[in-house]
Amino acid sequence: MLKLVRKNSSSNNYQQLFSERIKSIRQKALKKRKRISGTDLNRPVSFWIKKDRLIREVGKTLTIILRTKGCSWSLGETGGCTMCGYIQDANIEEVNQKQLQSQIDYVLNNKINEISEDDEKYSLKIFNSGSFFDENEISEETRQYIYEKVVTIENIKEFTIESRLEYIDAEKLKDLKEKLKGKYTEVAIGIETVNDYFRNIYINKGMRFEDFKNILQICKENTVGLKAYLLLKPPFLNEAGAIDDCINSIRKLIDLKINTISINPLNIQRGTLAEYLWYKNKYRPPWFHSLFKVLRKSLTQKDLATVRVISDPSGAGTKRGIHNCLKRECEKTAQNRLQHFVFSQELASLENVEVECDCRRKYQLQKYFY
Ligand code: SF4
Ligand SMILES: [Zn+2]
Repeated sequence: MLKLVRKNSSSNNYQQLFSERIKSIRQKALKKRKRISGTDLNRPVSFWIKKDRLIREVGKTLTIILRTKGCSWSLGETGGCTMCGYIQDANIEEVNQKQLQSQIDYVLNNKINEISEDDEKYSLKIFNSGSFFDENEISEETRQYIYEKVVTIENIKEFTIESRLEYIDAEKLKDLKEKLKGKYTEVAIGIETVNDYFRNIYINKGMRFEDFKNILQICKENTVGLKAYLLLKPPFLNEAGAIDDCINSIRKLIDLKINTISINPLNIQRGTLAEYLWYKNKYRPPWFHSLFKVLRKSLTQKDLATVRVISDPSGAGTKRGIHNCLKRECEKTAQNRLQHFVFSQELASLENVEVECDCRRKYQLQKYFY
């Protein structure tokens, strides 16, 4: 009994030290944020159009990254998620709602003709590196402003936003569905893994799988789709552990009849605990070999008739992103294969992926240690 108490108290101490470290890394990063000038706040962080996998076919996506004051979880007491550095794009002060509406106008004025005249179907993703339903970032009035603009653009067939669980409720989903009548709507949630321990201790996410399941139910009741982000290789997992975790997560989400799974291999972002561990040689972003293994082991072609599985890794083929041996040929082949799979949703496009490069031998040796 005494032993158990000692063990618990040392693990509590460890967790406390760990959470202090996360907070201090975040505080340092927050101090480096720049003040963005007034006119620049009328423009988003970025926006672009590219070929993409829509829910049933290949089309195009217009992605808009809005500039807000940043994710409340990242700015709050806990220091935010251990791999996320998006707060560095946010403004140091409040971004008012008029400026946010101008950011939307700026993009639509730029892109409306291209979208309307295109034969391809479009999806619109509005991301704010935080939560679309968090009133502190995007007000009810601005949400309505966005819905009114988007509903009139006929060629936009799908609309996706992202939010933490605590800001989502039935009323907001019902409203989203009603206002965007005729379009497929999807809420993206960074659940990262189905494992509560990995999510809340290693990622510092502050989210329970039980609550995610409740929101999934509310989404279903309101016929709003749900996209789950999964993080491939959270800090403190080695390659083999990360593969098991991701396979397990995909299987569980498929059983729950989720609409979309987006696999995000961890990329090293500035001012994060992941970056701190990476500099200390205690973390390596995942190998492409692992991602392909996850896809092959977790999915059947039958699954892909009901769930869309996508992955568009940031920093792919570089030291900070998912990579194999960094040889140009090896990285390019892997990226092309992944893209081909995402567009086609055909598992056959992943076959024989492992015979490509001899870095696979090094990978096999490393995957239990690093
Ligand atoms: S991953 Fe999402 S919830 Fe976590 S800090 Fe980043 S924006 Fe916030
Ligand atoms: Zn290689």
